[in-house]
Amino acid sequence: AAAVQVRGVNKQFQTATGIVHALENIDLTVQAGEFVSLIGPSGCGKSTLMRLIADLDDPTSGELTVFGKTATQARLDQDYGIAFQQAGLLPWRSVAANVALPLELHGVASATRRTRVAELLDMVGLTEFADRFPDQLSGGMQQRVAIARSLAEQPRLLLMDEPFGALDEMTREKMQTDLVRIAADTGAAVVFVTHSIPEAVFLSDRVVVMSPRPGRISQIVPMRLDAA
Ligand code: ADP
Ligand code: ADP
Repeated sequence: AAAVQVRGVNKQFQTATGIVHALENIDLTVQAGEFVSLIGPSGCGKSTLMRLIADLDDPTSGELTVFGKTATQARLDQDYGIAFQQAGLLPWRSVAANVALPLELHGVASATRRTRVAELLDMVGLTEFADRFPDQLSGGMQQRVAIARSLAEQPRLLLMDEPFGALDEMTREKMQTDLVRIAADTGAAVVFVTHSIPEAVFLSDRVVVMSPRPGRISQIVPMRLDAA
């Protein structure tokens, strides 16, 4: 099955001033192993679409499946890892313990967990910060913790909403290169929201261009010769 299949999805928000058409008639298929970026001006519905895929909210109408399952079932099965701009770390858990969380939830043995967490922290350059707590880190470092956590289970799908937004230039370039390698090595599909066209072009197999009011897909641009 496709990693993500979105068919005729609409999302409306009722607000004090009326109905906001955050997403209108969205059709999008992300194949297993494919890297797709979402770009478009603020308010075009990128985060809303990511939240629907991640089962953090429900469509008003339409169909959405993840590996052929409902979004809820895919979440319960830990089919995807999430790294959103708001890192969403648990403040009472150390950096290492945050990264270890998906492994714990999946019942990975303690010794294996420790090795895997050490690898992940090394990859994001935070080995020395394993025992710190999130509020002792910069925004960029917190994002790196969230990225490490999203990769912990080597998910078949990564949902990333501006995960590199708070990173300095050098760290961002390193993380971009690492992400491309990780996605290729693990065969993970990635849905990636960014404000940066160069970043989208560098990373993606296809770039989905969205437009606001109502939030729609206005164009899908293949970035690889072999991309559909
Ligand atoms: P983007 O991520 O592309 O900036 P969003 O998905 O955040 O866009 O928002 C799309 C539209 O939906 C915007 O008009 C936004 O104001 C509106 N919106 C998003 N979430 C809510 C909400 N919880 N309540 C009301 N309106 C919302
Ligand atoms: P515990 O005391 O039960 O190990 P912690 O909150 O210290 O609880 O750690 C939770 C998880 O984080 C465990 O899976 C542990 O293996 C991992 N962990 C903690 N510290 C480190 C570290 N420095 N390096 C690697 N993994 C760590």
